[in-house]
Amino acid sequence: MEIKAKKRFGQNFLKDEIVKQKIIKAIPNGDDRVIEIGAGLGDLTKPLLEFHKVVAYEIDLELCEYLKERFSKEIEEERFELICGDVLSYWQNGNLREERYKIVANLPYYVATNIVLKALQDRNCISITVMVQKEVGNKFLAKVGERNFSSLSVIAESISEVKEVVFVPPTAFEPEPKVDSLVIQFQKNSGDEVSKDFQKFLLYAFQQPRKTLFKNLSTTYSKEELRKIFEERKLNLSLRPHQVTTIDYHQIYKNLRLQIGRERDSSKKGETI
Ligand code: SAM
Repeated sequence: MEIKAKKRFGQNFLKDEIVKQKIIKAIPNGDDRVIEIGAGLGDLTKPLLEFHKVVAYEIDLELCEYLKERFSKEIEEERFELICGDVLSYWQNGNLREERYKIVANLPYYVATNIVLKALQDRNCISITVMVQKEVGNKFLAKVGERNFSSLSVIAESISEVKEVVFVPPTAFEPEPKVDSLVIQFQKNSGDEVSKDFQKFLLYAFQQPRKTLFKNLSTTYSKEELRKIFEERKLNLSLRPHQVTTIDYHQIYKNLRLQIGRERDSSKKGETI
């Protein structure tokens, strides 16, 4: 059966055997279920099934039919489950699955960041091994002080240990994408979470990366309060967003919330601040 790659689903099929083996080897040990997002033609699914029970999500119904045939034996033996549809629509109340699971995926570029963020916030997901566009990977991997240090780096560092698994050039795929890729891995720290409000706060913090953090935050929060918090934490007002540590971001956010809570309480009592 001849199947053409569809651009609208970001289909670039991984053909390089060495890269596939590196991905398989990088998956953390343990019996937890492996979830593959976007199984494609099943070229990564095949070696995955040699070591793990796999559940795969695939949005393209034509590929779904192909996968059902290719893995009919594994489906019958209950080593493989295929779910046809958009994986994002299965993320209900923050969880993709009811059991603990590990993600392995070669993600389409247009949806990669969104899927990684969902998985980072899903308590049942314990690790994520993903292929993403090199630029996106570098944002997740960046450390404080580096030019790429962004809200994605802060979110990733708040919940997980992130590392690079392997660099992947366009020639590893069929058809070849126009960009380089990276396989990166997140190992989640148990119990840590980032709230939606903290993520919103990070959007304000990094809204203009070349401006100072103080300036970015003062478009939303009181300058006076920010000055106090910066002083307490010995943070210079001229720091740019990429120069502030994840711990400091959490502390600034916590102090601002305390302040907002106090303002709310006193306005309820009809007091002026
Ligand atoms: N895993 C295969 C490989 O490595 O060769 C395919 C990778 S290809 C880059 C991405 C796959 O994700 C495609 O098969 C595409 O149809 C599927 N996909 C795209 N968006 C999806 C979504 N929202 N939910 C589930 N699958 C999706």
